[in-house]
Amino acid sequence: MSTRTTLITGIGSLVTNDPGQGAGPLGLLTDAAVVVEGATVAWVGPAAQAPAADERFDAGGRAALPGFVDSHAHLVFAGDRTAEFNARMSGQAYTAGGIRTTVAATRAASDAELDANLARFVREAVRQGTTTVECKSGYGLTVEDEARALRIAARHTPETTYLGAHVVAPEYAEDPAGYVDLVTGEMLDACAPHARWVDVFCEKGAFDGDQARAVLTAGIERGLTPRVHANQLSYGPGVQLAVELGAASADHCTHLTDEDVAALAGSATVATLLPGAEFSTRAEYPSGRRLLDAGAVVALSTDCNPGSSFTSSMAFCIAVAVREMGMTPDEAVRAATLGGAQALRRSDVGVVAPGARADLLLLDAPSHVHLAYRPGVPLTAAVWRAGVREV
Ligand SMILES: [Zn+2]
Repeated sequence: MSTRTTLITGIGSLVTNDPGQGAGPLGLLTDAAVVVEGATVAWVGPAAQAPAADERFDAGGRAALPGFVDSHAHLVFAGDRTAEFNARMSGQAYTAGGIRTTVAATRAASDAELDANLARFVREAVRQGTTTVECKSGYGLTVEDEARALRIAARHTPETTYLGAHVVAPEYAEDPAGYVDLVTGEMLDACAPHARWVDVFCEKGAFDGDQARAVLTAGIERGLTPRVHANQLSYGPGVQLAVELGAASADHCTHLTDEDVAALAGSATVATLLPGAEFSTRAEYPSGRRLLDAGAVVALSTDCNPGSSFTSSMAFCIAVAVREMGMTPDEAVRAATLGGAQALRRSDVGVVAPGARADLLLLDAPSHVHLAYRPGVPLTAAVWRAGVREV
């Protein structure tokens, strides 16, 4: 029995992210169609030339783009931090220490509770057009709790990231070196089988450059690929370390020297910008313009977490990037799709092209520009993930 095919036709404007298929860097096609075969895109082109398929869906002139690739999220947790957000919006500063509040709630939660929370957030993201989501540990900070977080995350996404080095566990407050030994030793042994990536929060109040290097190097030796929380709250060694160690991504990039920008531009390390964090901590945004002008690859992601960025909306990040970070709508949409895929070293997502995974977001709008032009408006008309209609 052959795999069933679906023709999605009448797409008024299609972002393919493949310049070989259409106009400009977005590879934009008008009056387009896509044929989905099983979980994969089988054909892309002008609607008038589309081949026949078993089923037919008429997009009615709406715009479509690849499903969003959210390459930075912290979704295995319990509890929320409404009071902390409220206090911060009433004048208190953000520090890395609030993470410990979520650690206590997460440790106290059952596996089923954490799994249900994560499933709810993934569902919430899919409803908004996100079809690939990365998920970090980092709210357990014991051997058992970090391994548990990654086991649960792996049920929902292959993009699992070991972040035992989120902050120093409260039990090690007086012995941070001992905690780094744990993170690079017994905890890594327990977590590596469930993780694809290793990450560290390289920041004052979290881990310094030497500690971050130890964490990432140990992960690399266990077959994990590094990504780094770098230069969020202050200037520091995170970005340079990420580039030096061949990290897939340096995330946040809010405080960058010219040397940091040049290092990113001269490397394969993606600069992942997380404007939800600056929004939710009332901080200054990173400059997407500066990075793009230098030639760096930029991704946009939500950093969805209960403390510093409790949004799962990639559309919101696009709108902020355009309004506050000097990015054009085309650049922001590309960063939220292809950029995220590059940050996860994936070539099968973030594009609409033959052979790619059939991840498509159809907008209740005539153009992808509406994602920035109509901020806060729910524009999802339909979502396909791996060929399955989810919304
Ligand atoms: Zn983060």
